[in-house]
Amino acid sequence: MNEKFTAEAVSPAEWYEKDEELVWHAMRPGSKKRSFIASKAEGAWLEDIDGNRYLDAMAGLWCVNAGYGRKEIAESVYEQLLEMPFYPLTQSHKPAIQLAEKLNEWLGGDYVIFFSNSGSEANETAFKIARQYFHQKGEAARQTFISRYRSYHGNTMATLAATGQAQRKYKYGPGLPGFVHVSPPDHYRSGMETEAQSNEKAVQDMENVMNWELGETIAGVIMEPIITGGGVLVPGDTYMKRVQDACRKNGALLISDEVICGFGRTGKPFGFQHFDVQPDIVTMAKGITSGYLPLSATAVKREIYESFQGTEAHDHFRHVNTFGGSPASCAAALANLEIMEKEKLSERSEELGRELQESLQELLSLPHVGDVRGRGLLAGIEFVETKENKQPWEEAKVAQIVARCKDKGIIIGKTADTVNGFNNIITLSPPLSLTREDFDFLVKTLKETVREVVTQ
Ligand code: PMP
Repeated sequence: MNEKFTAEAVSPAEWYEKDEELVWHAMRPGSKKRSFIASKAEGAWLEDIDGNRYLDAMAGLWCVNAGYGRKEIAESVYEQLLEMPFYPLTQSHKPAIQLAEKLNEWLGGDYVIFFSNSGSEANETAFKIARQYFHQKGEAARQTFISRYRSYHGNTMATLAATGQAQRKYKYGPGLPGFVHVSPPDHYRSGMETEAQSNEKAVQDMENVMNWELGETIAGVIMEPIITGGGVLVPGDTYMKRVQDACRKNGALLISDEVICGFGRTGKPFGFQHFDVQPDIVTMAKGITSGYLPLSATAVKREIYESFQGTEAHDHFRHVNTFGGSPASCAAALANLEIMEKEKLSERSEELGRELQESLQELLSLPHVGDVRGRGLLAGIEFVETKENKQPWEEAKVAQIVARCKDKGIIIGKTADTVNGFNNIITLSPPLSLTREDFDFLVKTLKETVREVVTQ
């Protein structure tokens, strides 16, 4: 690194300049825009290099569930790095074993855990496990995965194929075959009178597609219990159970993508736990370490794992990643989960979440606020041109709400579906550990800002 650049005396202006010159930023639209360069964080608060402070109501990228500045996590990582920084999970180490045991407690089932580094890899791993599982059962025709439009499942070629947002995919073709999409339940836009009807329609779509594609070719359905980044789409209470029934009837696996919904975000340890289901495979990342280190996991029901035992030497699960489940990442996850248990953060998310959802409902009386939805400390507010036509409101207006919130000291999110116009939903996903004072500040500032922009 260049000497001048490492010096303490580098001015904010120089950091901004170097950033523009050298760093390729993810998901950065249009012309170059100055970055927010974060430099310090504590609790639910971030500080930038100019010394401005912001309440981070997106928990980084939906991941810092236990909040920033947790010394216990940092210390466990430090100790683990000194004791043994690396050993691959082609063999084993204690932190991975302990974490697999802990995850089973959280999952409330009997799962064997495959560790990776990111949510994308966890889903990719799930697809490979599912396909090989069916090979081993003599059902090699089961190769197709069903997922929902508006979902996001990752940045790799298979997880992009599963993703149901065209704008993220159309430049990277040919896409992988073997992925089919159905509409998610979206009561606000379904045109149905009751939520039960919207639900029923979405279930029927899924069942029809399973039939049309031929049930015996379906390997699995991958879904987030609540679609998060695609616009916080909360299904009716019975939807996921009905999807599980359809999977069982057709012999397919249910894969729950808990990359965002997991680890207390929706008010339960995992999102699927709201819906009376027990998925065959559960994928997770982000909140597993609260973002302190990269780690993800693919939890697989024991009977699936068992089918891999006794396979020929060339035929076992030939899938490895160097860093997946590295000792320090597992140590970070264990310390993080201990904090979450001690501070009852899932329960806190449920309680504060109920208050949040109720309070945000008030916004529905304002012009342009079409829908308010969410569960736990996950919320989305959808803005429309008029309540009658439900056309997505101009992106610039929605962006203005985000920008004004930032001016007032809170960072919120916004969907970015530029092709279908669904860039009209603002999202909230604060650290579950935010204080009462933080919570009140967030809700008050957000409501006040929405009111200002929609009535101006
Ligand atoms: N699944 C879901 C539901 C996600 O939201 C994300 C990332 N936002 C992923 C998978 C991919 O995770 P990662 O970015 O860690 O690869």
